[in-house]
Amino acid sequence: MCYVLFMAGSWCTHIFPRRCLVCGECDTVILGLCSRCRSQIRAVPEPICDICGKPIGVPGECIQCRMKRPSFDRMISVGVFDGLLKDIIHSFKYNNATVFKKPLAGLMFDLLSQKGIHADMITFVPLHWTRMISRGYNQAALIAHELSGYMGIDMRYNVIRKVRKTLNQVGLKRSERMNNLRGVFVSGKVKGKDVMVVDDVITTGSTAQEVSASLKRAGASNVIFASVGRIIR
Ligand SMILES: [Zn+2]
Ligand SMILES: [Zn+2]
Repeated sequence: MCYVLFMAGSWCTHIFPRRCLVCGECDTVILGLCSRCRSQIRAVPEPICDICGKPIGVPGECIQCRMKRPSFDRMISVGVFDGLLKDIIHSFKYNNATVFKKPLAGLMFDLLSQKGIHADMITFVPLHWTRMISRGYNQAALIAHELSGYMGIDMRYNVIRKVRKTLNQVGLKRSERMNNLRGVFVSGKVKGKDVMVVDDVITTGSTAQEVSASLKRAGASNVIFASVGRIIR
């Protein structure tokens, strides 16, 4: 998807801020995305599990969540991580296309408003400091910051810390993923609070489990995990 790379972060977006950041279209643009590009983003098919947000056959809670409650209270995602959404997130994450923080946060805001989801504070899945230096920004933090403005909820930067570097979770077996993440996140300053954690993509849910567990150990009342994309298997 060369359009994304072409438009994102270029002078065009500053001189023509009302253009779609993906295709350059000028009409029907809201927060950098035209209606045609928005329509290409595939929502997670309903009904979804009330807890983990996975598509299920009938409304309610899925079998896995009923058998073993996740450490988070709710997980919700804007869309399936494929097609245009995947291209946008990829550019945002790896090609410095930070201009996409507004449309991505806008899509999250629409979904959270529609579902009536609120929290006392918004934070994000942290990167290890070495990764932060090499990439120069944390894509989840940029979205969380925009989202906090749209929702009028306090943004908190220091409630979750990643204290150890981890291997890439992709390609690891379930047991390896859990070992890879064990004790990696440490949280604080959340006692009695409803915390919303923002991430760009939820792949297996293992990171969400560990982050949420650390928030609960620190006394959080509720943890809502919100992402832009989600891999649906
Ligand atoms: Zn467009
Ligand atoms: Zn579930």
